[in-house]
Amino acid sequence: MAFNLILMGLPGAGKGTQAQKIDEKYQVPHISTGDIFREAMANKTEMGLAAKAYIDKGELVPDEVTNGIVRDRLSQQDVLTNGFMLDGYPRNLDQAAALDKMLADSDRHLDAVINIDVEPSVLVDRLSARYICRVCGATYNRISNPTKVEGTCDVCGSHDFYQRDDDKPETVKNRLAVNIKMNTPLVDYYKNQNVLHTINGERDIDLVFKDVADVLQSVND
Ligand code: ADP
Ligand code: ADP
Ligand code: ZN
Repeated sequence: MAFNLILMGLPGAGKGTQAQKIDEKYQVPHISTGDIFREAMANKTEMGLAAKAYIDKGELVPDEVTNGIVRDRLSQQDVLTNGFMLDGYPRNLDQAAALDKMLADSDRHLDAVINIDVEPSVLVDRLSARYICRVCGATYNRISNPTKVEGTCDVCGSHDFYQRDDDKPETVKNRLAVNIKMNTPLVDYYKNQNVLHTINGERDIDLVFKDVADVLQSVND
């Protein structure tokens, strides 16, 4: 089953968490522009060093850079075969238009845009409790979603976790403000394309996923 999806929602809404569950059930490649930038920064590539200046301030990386990265990834064979879940992209209308063009150029279209809706006030606390497996990228939460065995990743068994530098409350507030401003026109854009599905993200992870799976079922018919 191939799905061409966008996961939308403010930082901390649960995009990565739901992506992990979609991937387990349907094996759809997860494309997170944030993860791609973080990997490039860790490897100190030229692109990573250029992106770091923006990311450290909670600002967006310029569109030319970001669109190029997504275009390359969307042309790879696993995506052509199994589809994609974009997470963290598009972030503005220019990126949305660039994506439409990339897809049209290769005779593809979006199946669904899943918008995970959570009040901003909930997100600062959620993000300050987030921790991530350094080996496989699985995401946990000290309060709402800890590993089953303390200190051991449920997915890959690793004991090596990290917290994101930009999950500190000071950076989170700026990231939220930037994202709230940019989200509204994107939601309208996809509403007009009749592909938007908004899901209440302020419930247990498994209940949110049930709604996500219902959406995927409905677009698969
Ligand atoms: P995003 O990818 O949208 O930034 P994540 O999936 O990383 O968000 O989730 C942010 C944090 O909130 C993580 O620590 C995650 O474990 C936790 N989380 C995700 N979904 C929920 C939920 N429905 N309820 C409570 N906590 C959640
Ligand atoms: P968030 O939890 O803020 O959604 P992400 O992991 O998606 O974080 O992104 C981390 C940072 O990477 C962003 O603050 C931004 O600087 C950069 N970034 C990620 N995706 C994009 C994008 N589509 N356009 C521009 N910058 C991006
Ligand atoms: Zn892991």
